[in-house]
Amino acid sequence: MKTDPCKREREEMVEFQIRARGVGDRRVLAAMRKIPRHLFVPKGFERAAYEDRPLPIGEGQTISQPYIVAVMTEQLELAPQDRVLEIGTGSGYQAALLAELAANVISVERLPDLADRARENLARAGVTGVEVVVGDGTQGYPPEAPYNAVIVTAATPDIPQPLVKQLAEGGRLIAPVGPRECQDLVKLVKHEGRVEKIPLGGVCFVPLIGQFGWKGERFP
Ligand code: SAH
Repeated sequence: MKTDPCKREREEMVEFQIRARGVGDRRVLAAMRKIPRHLFVPKGFERAAYEDRPLPIGEGQTISQPYIVAVMTEQLELAPQDRVLEIGTGSGYQAALLAELAANVISVERLPDLADRARENLARAGVTGVEVVVGDGTQGYPPEAPYNAVIVTAATPDIPQPLVKQLAEGGRLIAPVGPRECQDLVKLVKHEGRVEKIPLGGVCFVPLIGQFGWKGERFP
């Protein structure tokens, strides 16, 4: 990676937005200090990349607020050998963090233009270990299942059942579940085939559109 003009902003982001609010996992904090978030936002938004808010990434979609990314990543409890499925590649930033913390990452994006841009962003940031797939992520990605962790980064009315099915024994799944505007962040843990559900608090995400999510461009 080239010398990084935003290193100090990134350290401040981790210190004041993330660590100060209670995210303590050392590996997650180190990954967020390392991944150059400014390479995942559109041209002209680089200065805003380390602010405490989501940002537009085109096509009506957003890169999430750094704190929310940190909370979701910490709750996935990733181990270095884990295989991870992300639904909603967007900018590729969340996928880059996952790749830093786990062995391999499949990230599914519905919009081909965003998938292309995410692949470019990941390459520019020097991230390897992410495969971006275009498709309906509400169906998961059966060819590489099962996954030790699944993260859904778009809002869904209910957790898509294919994703629960594709979760390995001991696996963790995080998703924003609920109405169109704002949702509850929910964590599922699979134990001996049973699924434990843990609520993590309120969030607001763009909609997950697909067979097991919201049904169309105009969701009810
Ligand atoms: N994780 C991203 C932000 C995601 S924004 C990041 O780090 O930047 C939500 C993304 O989910 C959008 O890009 C949207 O196009 C995508 N999406 C919506 N429905 C989807 C579906 N059924 N399958 C895959 N991606 C979907």
